[in-house]
Amino acid sequence: EEVDLVKFSEEITEELQMVAKQNQSIIYQHTGTKRMVKTDINLLKNCIINLIANAIKYSGENTFIEFNTEITDTNYYITIKDNGIGIPVSEQKHLFEAFFRAHNTGSIPGTGLGLNIVDRYIKLMFGRIEFKSEENKGTTFTLIFDI
Ligand code: ATP
Ligand code: MG
Repeated sequence: EEVDLVKFSEEITEELQMVAKQNQSIIYQHTGTKRMVKTDINLLKNCIINLIANAIKYSGENTFIEFNTEITDTNYYITIKDNGIGIPVSEQKHLFEAFFRAHNTGSIPGTGLGLNIVDRYIKLMFGRIEFKSEENKGTTFTLIFDI
């Protein structure tokens, strides 16, 4: 399957902006050439929705969530960055395990399955997932795929 990455991302941004918190803005930006990329549209959409839903859930009102895509000659990248509660360093190694929930989630609800599913889907699509997170600062996830 092929998808127009920019149009696809703009549509997801619009959908998720509706479920964001008060004054939480999802800012979408693309870098590089705009073109069709090979993917599984349903799996990819599910992954992006999971990551942005986490960004919404684990960050407060009056914040920005940055959603970026980039296309180079060999790869495309999808990045979701929030300024939320972050993930404690000591717990980061468990992030993709089923039912994992970090201790700083407090009363925020969740089952701990979202990222486990994202990790499986990314593998099915032969992509990679990377993240960087600092407690009380925020979290960034990057999905990397070959063109
Ligand atoms: P659900 O299954 O409904 O998605 P969940 O959000 O708790 O529940 P995951 O999406 O798998 O589960 O995330 C696992 C855990 O990783 C979360 O409970 C939270 O501790 C941490 N986490 C994930 N994304 C973020 C984020 N953007 N900011 C801070 N912590 C996060
Ligand atoms: Mg989740």
